[in-house]
Amino acid sequence: MSQSGIVNCKRCNKIFKKMVSEICPTCVEKENEQFQKMFRLLQSSQPHGGILIEDLSEQVGIPIEVIEEYYFEAKLGTAGLFLKFKCRACSEVLDENNRKGRYCIPCSNAVSNKAGVKVRSLQDIEREERRAKDIIQLPSGKQNVEQPVESPLPRRAGFLRNR
Ligand SMILES: [Zn+2]
Ligand SMILES: [Zn+2]
Repeated sequence: MSQSGIVNCKRCNKIFKKMVSEICPTCVEKENEQFQKMFRLLQSSQPHGGILIEDLSEQVGIPIEVIEEYYFEAKLGTAGLFLKFKCRACSEVLDENNRKGRYCIPCSNAVSNKAGVKVRSLQDIEREERRAKDIIQLPSGKQNVEQPVESPLPRRAGFLRNR
């Protein structure tokens, strides 16, 4: 339980006084820098037909899931066009033209058919999936989500250990 807004940073686990973000100011700054770097890399990948999410992740040190969040929340803007990732079902590499959400178009259709219900859009499915896997924290400025303060990270500081 946090007293007077003192929490563990969700990234580095350091204790800090929570203002708006779930991560400490040092990490906020670091994430902003990483984001800029990622953004530039994406843009410069245009002549090569885009960049695979795994490579991007490795080069900028941002987890794949976080980059996916950026993409699906449209934070990448037009640079998102150059992000390539694999179909979740068949692993085909997809770019902006041959995917629907996280799937290639054939798999996307298959998935919607399998779901049986015709009006359940892929977006709905994804939204549920995202909710289920305990939304990943976005860096800075993203203070609209009031979430339970429990962090999925192991508590190492012994500060909030009683659970
Ligand atoms: Zn931190
Ligand atoms: Zn597929």
